[in-house]
Parts: sequence; structure tokens; C-alpha cells
Amino acid sequence: MKIVWFCIPAHGHTNPTLGLVKEMTEAGHKVIYFSFEQFREKIENAGAEFVSCDAYDFEMEDKDAGDRVGKDMAFATELLVKSTLALDDMVSEKVAQIKPDLIISDSVAYWGKLTAMKYQIPYVSSTTTFAFNDHSSKYMNHGIGELLKMMFSMPKINKQIKKLQEKGYPVQSILEIVRNDNNTNTIVYTSKEFQPCADTFSDKYCFIGPSIRPVISPMEKTAEKTVYISMGTVMKNKEIYRNCVEAFRNTDYQVIISLGENVEEYTDLPDNIKVYDSVDQMAVLSIADVFLTHCGMNSTSEALYYEVPLVLFPQTPEQGAVAKRVEELGAGVRLATTGKKDILVTVESVLAAEQYKLAAKEISKGFKRCGGVKAAREYLEGLC
Ligand code: UDP
Repeated sequence: MKIVWFCIPAHGHTNPTLGLVKEMTEAGHKVIYFSFEQFREKIENAGAEFVSCDAYDFEMEDKDAGDRVGKDMAFATELLVKSTLALDDMVSEKVAQIKPDLIISDSVAYWGKLTAMKYQIPYVSSTTTFAFNDHSSKYMNHGIGELLKMMFSMPKINKQIKKLQEKGYPVQSILEIVRNDNNTNTIVYTSKEFQPCADTFSDKYCFIGPSIRPVISPMEKTAEKTVYISMGTVMKNKEIYRNCVEAFRNTDYQVIISLGENVEEYTDLPDNIKVYDSVDQMAVLSIADVFLTHCGMNSTSEALYYEVPLVLFPQTPEQGAVAKRVEELGAGVRLATTGKKDILVTVESVLAAEQYKLAAKEISKGFKRCGGVKAAREYLEGLC
């Protein structure tokens, strides 16, 4: 089977797909993956043929744009039309050449879905967040600012929709493209138990469980309790990191902080605290007793897989949905403020009560019951 795969330039949306790409290519299927140079090596290592989208006028000059697409609906929606039109000639030519049996596209790489519509090719959505429909989207607490941004960008988007129609995309409204519906074949990288409102999704949804990487550089456990702190690869919240250092100074905890950047700015660290630009997160989670996280879907799933309870500090509506679900299932507690006292007290409350660890263990069991990439392969093969 020949599969054309589209993704946005963001680690959080690319990483979970790589295991499945590997599974498909090892089973003899051909995967042609449209992405961005930054991700070429990873994608080729998974066995796919890489097609670069960098040269096209994608409005991705801002290096964080890719990550914003995954987090900011208004931005993503406006960008989608421009991106689709920018890629149109190249994609048309490639699709005519490749003649794919299937298009798989990240749920916010809308140009993938539009291409499938234009050329009437079977389409599968690859959803690296929770699947959101009218029910589960209630878990996202969209601020009024977010909603206003959406409304203001609508007229611009409607104008662009006309341009899409002129280029042969049979699309009537933006909702058709951005909404997940029960008729769309969808792969979701979580379990049914962790997905909010799972019973409102049809059997076209395949919940394969999170994608967990192997530990590459093992980390030594140097104290009875290990605290891991990371705000992911996008958010760089200096204040919280500084306060964490002060909160855990003069304690017995082993504290590991992944800062994202500027490690050298942290001089005067006590022996029990180590900061890194980036860590092998699987290695750290395998020794951690609690994780203070921004509630990115990947970080959260990885921690729960390793049965690590959470202190929750979400920054976007989507991360808010993840935090809400974790709280609901009892595997974590929200951080009220970034003050050093709150940080210490909240972390210690999670460490002290066994119930959080037990709830994390339950979610982990659910993840491990999922069929993983093998189930996803069988599902995809069943579609063609
Ligand atoms: N990550 C990592 N090392 C680090 C920090 C993060 O390997 O020091 C990985 C982490 O394991 C996860 C991804 O980066 O797979 C972050 O994705 P997530 O969805 O949690 O958050 P985002 O960075 O997209 O906000």
C-alpha cells in the first residue's frame, strides 16, 4: 500500500507518528512523508521517503509557528488555507506521480485532508491530542480571547475558502475541514480510558495508546524521591524554573529540570538539583516519583505510562483539557500559583498520598492494553 502522510512542523505532532511509520514500512508498505527539514532525519530513520515542504511560502518563518499551529486554533485555521494554496502545485504533481492508496494527515495539517478531498483519496486523521468533538471539546476551556480571535479571523478565512474552491477543492465551509466527525477514520495516540467522552466516538476511531520511546541514556537515581520538572519544548517559563530551584534548595529530593534552553544561566545550584537544556525524558520518567508538567499530551502520557503522578500546570486550552482529565481520574493535582511555597507544598502533597500513584498505575494499565502500532497497522490495512 502507498501512503502519503502530512504533518505540521512540531515535535509533539511528529514524534508519536514515527513508531507507526516504522511499523508500516517494515511491513512492506511505502510511506511518503511530507514534512520539514528539521524532521527529515527522524522520518527517514523510521523508513519513510521524505518530501520537504520548507521551500513553500508557508508563513512558517517564525521558528515557533509550527508549535503555535498545534496550540492556537485561530492561527491554525487562517494558516491552513494559505498553506494548502502554497503547496498546491507541488502536492498535485507528487500525488499524480505517487498515486497513493491512502492519505494520513495530522489533525491540524489541514492541507492533507484537503488534498484527500480534492483527489478523492481515502483519508485518515492522525490525532496526537485528545480527539475533540462537541462533547470532549467541553474539556477545553477556551478563554474569551481565544474565541474572539477565532471570530475575527472568520471573514478572512471565508475569503480564502473561495480561493480554495477556485483551485478545485470541494469545500463549502471551514468547519468541514477543522471538525472531527464520526465518519472520519481517525487514529488517536491514547487509550479509550484516558480519552474524555470516549463513548461518543464511532468505531472509525482507533485508540492505539501513546507512543513510548525506549530509554537511550539511563539516569541514576540519587535520592529516595525524584522530582522531574519540564514545561515541554515550546513554553520557556523562566519564572517557574527559578522558583522551582528555590523551592527545592535545601531539601533531600533529587530534582531534575529540563529548561529547554539557557542552562548556563543557572549558576549557584545546590547538589540535589540538576538542570538540562533537554533530557532523555523516558530515562528520567523511569526513575521519577512526581512530574511537574505543562500537561502537553505527550509528556503527560509518557509520565502516566511510567506510573508517575503529576502536578499540573497547563498553559493552553488543549493542555487544560489534559489537566482536567488527569484530575478527574485522580492522577494529579493542579498547581495554584508558581510561588515557591505552592510548588513545594503541591509536589509534597502528591508524593505523600498513595492515591495519585495508584490512579496513574490504572491509566498506565489502560495504555498497555491498547494494541499500539500493530493494531494501527491492521486498522490501516483493513481500510484498503
Ligand atoms: N521531551 C524530551 N526531553 C525534554 C523535554 C521534552 O524528550 O527535555 C519530549 C517529551 O518526551 C515529549 C515532547 O518532547 O515527547 C514534548 O511534547 P509535549 O506534547 O509534552 O509538549 P510540547 O513540547 O509539544 O508543548
